[in-house]
Amino acid sequence: MPSLSSISGPTYVTSQLLVQQTAYKLSDKIFSYSPETFDLDVAVKEWAEANEKNVHGETTTVVPLQTRAGAGAFALGYIFSKDFDLAKRHVPQTLLAPSLSLRHLRSSLDQLALLYGVSSPFVAHVAAADYNAENGLGADYATALQIAEDLGLALVSSSSAYEVQHMSLLATLLASVLPTLHIYDGIRTARESLRVVDALGEAHIADIYAKISKEAAALNKRLDTAGKVVELLKAFNNELGTSYAPFEYHGHDAPETVLVVFGSAEAQLAKQVATALAAKGKKVGTIVVRVYRPFVEEAFLEVLPASVRQIAVLGQVADAASVEDANVQSALYSDVLTAVSFTEKLSQAPEVVDIRYVVTDAHTPSSIASIFNKLTSKGEAEPVAFSLTAVEEAQQYVFWDVDNSSAVASPAAVGKLLETEQSSNVYVHQTYDNLVQGGVVRTDIRVSQKSIEAPYPVENADVVFVGEEKLLKEIAIVKGVKAGGKLIVRLPNFKEDELEKRIPAAAQKEIQEKNVELYVLDSSSSSALEKEAHLLVNVAFLRVARADITKFDSLSADKTALTEAVNALDQSVRKVEVPVKWAEVEGAVAPLVDSVKPNSFVAFQKEEEEETSSLENWQSAAKGFAFKEAYGTQNQLRPDLAVKTYTIKVKENRRLTPTDYDRNIFHIEFDLGDSGLTYNIGEALGIHAENDPEQVLQFIQAYGLNADDLVQVPSREDPAVLETRTVYQSLVQNFDILGKPPKRFFESLAQFATDEEEKKRLERLGSKEGADEFKRLTEEDTVTYVDVLDMFKSAHPDFNDLIRIVDPSKRREYSIASAQAVSPNSVALMIVVVNWVDTKGRTRLGHATRYLSGLAPGSTITASVKPSVMKLPVKDTAPLIMAGLGTGLAPFRAFVQYRAMQKAQGKEIGSILLYLGSRHQREEYLYGEEWEAYLDAGVITMVGAAFSRDQPEKIYIQDRMRQTVTDIVQAYIKEEGSFYLCGPTWPVPDVTAVLEEAIAAEAQESGRKVDPRKEIERLKEDGRYVLEVY
Ligand SMILES: Cc1cc2nc3c(=O)[nH]c(=O)nc-3n(C[C@H](O)[C@H](O)[C@H](O)COP(=O)(O)OP(=O)(O)OC[C@H]3O[C@@H](n4cnc5c(N)ncnc54)[C@H](O)[C@@H]3O)c2cc1C
Repeated sequence: MPSLSSISGPTYVTSQLLVQQTAYKLSDKIFSYSPETFDLDVAVKEWAEANEKNVHGETTTVVPLQTRAGAGAFALGYIFSKDFDLAKRHVPQTLLAPSLSLRHLRSSLDQLALLYGVSSPFVAHVAAADYNAENGLGADYATALQIAEDLGLALVSSSSAYEVQHMSLLATLLASVLPTLHIYDGIRTARESLRVVDALGEAHIADIYAKISKEAAALNKRLDTAGKVVELLKAFNNELGTSYAPFEYHGHDAPETVLVVFGSAEAQLAKQVATALAAKGKKVGTIVVRVYRPFVEEAFLEVLPASVRQIAVLGQVADAASVEDANVQSALYSDVLTAVSFTEKLSQAPEVVDIRYVVTDAHTPSSIASIFNKLTSKGEAEPVAFSLTAVEEAQQYVFWDVDNSSAVASPAAVGKLLETEQSSNVYVHQTYDNLVQGGVVRTDIRVSQKSIEAPYPVENADVVFVGEEKLLKEIAIVKGVKAGGKLIVRLPNFKEDELEKRIPAAAQKEIQEKNVELYVLDSSSSSALEKEAHLLVNVAFLRVARADITKFDSLSADKTALTEAVNALDQSVRKVEVPVKWAEVEGAVAPLVDSVKPNSFVAFQKEEEEETSSLENWQSAAKGFAFKEAYGTQNQLRPDLAVKTYTIKVKENRRLTPTDYDRNIFHIEFDLGDSGLTYNIGEALGIHAENDPEQVLQFIQAYGLNADDLVQVPSREDPAVLETRTVYQSLVQNFDILGKPPKRFFESLAQFATDEEEKKRLERLGSKEGADEFKRLTEEDTVTYVDVLDMFKSAHPDFNDLIRIVDPSKRREYSIASAQAVSPNSVALMIVVVNWVDTKGRTRLGHATRYLSGLAPGSTITASVKPSVMKLPVKDTAPLIMAGLGTGLAPFRAFVQYRAMQKAQGKEIGSILLYLGSRHQREEYLYGEEWEAYLDAGVITMVGAAFSRDQPEKIYIQDRMRQTVTDIVQAYIKEEGSFYLCGPTWPVPDVTAVLEEAIAAEAQESGRKVDPRKEIERLKEDGRYVLEVY
């Protein structure tokens, strides 16, 4: 590890190292959670050991933690402990962790945010890295976006190693205003070694920090957090001569299409691709989000060009199902949509689309260019190939090898040697896929005169080295060699007449077609060399790739071995003539995969395999080692699934609308018994619903299953735990067999079809070509998994295969309509049954609402509790202004119950304005009697009910609000109340417009100048403008 003082000026580093340097210099304590192999804290530990000093003149204490949960709790415990040295209150406390730990940090961060007024500055440098058994490693940003939004934390992102140091510093400075997350790509950028020419040294960091901290302390106390962040950013830019902004625009001067992006690789690529396309006259651009929270809408609108007609948000979501689910919105999309909906800057409101992608989708210039192409061509457009000139001008090399090869260290050594050339920038990155050929390592090296930012694998290599011939069969390696490029294959004991046998047919064809120069390296010509094979590989590679390099001293201290390797070159490396007939070769079988997927940061340690004898095969074992930590605690990886569940009993199930009315809205109440379930006001209940037993039995019979057979299935509460159930039970409770099948189900089912026609159709439905038909089937015909299995009878996976390809049932959420302080032993919900008639004329019901509406008192159900943004104001005297449509009223019942209890206890409570909306008073005055009783009792101050269809003209909730705007001015602005809107999204703009009118009216009255938009922003940040829409 380099010493702290050596990091300065031009130096070879990784982002991970720079983050640690800044963290070490500025922090009192560093709490680190670095799963084995992630290496997020290796350097800070070493520096602490060496007693290196931080800017406060002390040795930074590093506290490595063993568990993700501990990472947050420990920091909190320290900051708020009785013994905490108050003289250190201003000194930042830091956390180093990967994003996979964020969900576990949630509750600690929540508490920290609440107590931040008396806390030390807290910054978390988060390496975006998550692990998933199926898809391997991916840079997870979605969790950070969500947590920052939910808990009100600041969130800053670095888009490259060149700026990671600046952003680490900035984030630490922002921490003086609010708890801050700084996120950077933890998969590629974090670990790629590269030359940063102007790395800030220790003294420089100390100096900048001291100066800007002073400015931070002197910030106008009346500024809101967004204002403070903008001011700090200004001070930061002034000091460093940079021009960072919360949002940065790149591209055409008058674009019609703008892509909004967050995330290191995403931002970097979008910026470069948009600039390149704009230079060719395409009216496109990109807005890179640097500071996501606070979301400074004004800054966003400032950079948004007025010419824009279409805004696309590249938004990361948790999983593939969320990409396909039209009901899911990425976090970034919602913010952009809100910002754009309210601006007057644009004469014509642009269309805003959400382009959702999953954590493991790695972007490339081609994927980003294809997105632009699709957006600008309006409709289906083929993916395009796109490359960035600066990257293509670099020398690009790829090494492929198995991880137990004697030459596995070669690429790193070659990289080091190239780094000694002062005029070049060398980028080295390794990818481990432990699931191919018992473990494969791919090393990418780029060498460029200019500094480049290319956070994606080499696509057109000048030279490719293959250390193990069997990899040519498995991976489409030749595809990655550029036309006219060079391919070196290591073939021990090579005999000329065996060439065709040893190079697979598909590779032969591509070598010939792309006019690739083929070299064979045979190290077995000398037994001495076999031992030092890595040296021979190094010099052979350099001979082919860089004949101008003749000095190899840095490759080895053993000069004799090195000379021997160089002397053996002529004998061991030979260029072979590529036969013309290879272009015509028959029987070519395409390799299994195009490339490898990163699923570990280290090689698969096979010697440990024995311990895992209970695992079924080497692949399972390899997965176990791919990222041990994740596997060992797999149950914690998806806490969104593995939530704490409770069994509760139905106490009351009462329909609220007349039975002859077309909407069935019902009130359901559960007895908590001794379940231990507790909830707060505003929270939602997660319901784990069951499938219709009758339909399940019909399916069991039609499919030829035996209802009572015992099977092992992942448990609903915790998918990492297998439980034994009957076929019937598992189909009723565990699988979404009567739900909507995603595209990948068709793709997977195709593998089981024995009828060729059916197979083809299923494959088409699972592919891009079949998109229209897929849409028709799933969105118009609303088919279920069961329907599809019935349509394609030849595709008949057995039960175990079936449950692999059908998604597990997902829980649904319902706002709680009761206050536990008032009724400690029960929880109430108000629910509307979802129903529709499908194209076959069948009446269909929503999964959970069908189940819940049919539950008789006494039935038990499984439920969990979901935290929410809906919270009562801290001050009991603060007024509540609540607007709810339909079931959106549910949480307000809890609010009012609580305030009524306080009033009964003699406490003073704020006024309550309740606006409610539905179609008809007679049928849908939901909880009407209760509201009227509360009104009589003086708990509710005013009810503004809008029954849209009770009179000839339509009256909506916003109309009622406008009629009583003076009450809103009084309660919301003068008495500093909180506003809540719950239910469907569509009234949001109209309702917000009334609030803005109220703000403007009050400002005029008091002779102040106020921007109502900004005011709403401020209220939002203060938790006084709260939306819960679904
Ligand atoms: C925080 C929060 C609070 C909420 N609070 C409430 C509340 O208080 N009260 C309330 O009633 N709801 C509430 N909801 C909504 C609730 O969570 C459910 O989304 C809703 O009840 C529908 O669930 P379901 O299982 O009955 O319908 P689903 O089965 O999920 O169906 C939903 C829709 O999906 C489509 N669909 C279903 N099956 C298929 C298929 N096979 N093919 C194609 N399309 C299909 C249909 O168009 C249907 O309308 C809340 C949601 C959130 C996020």
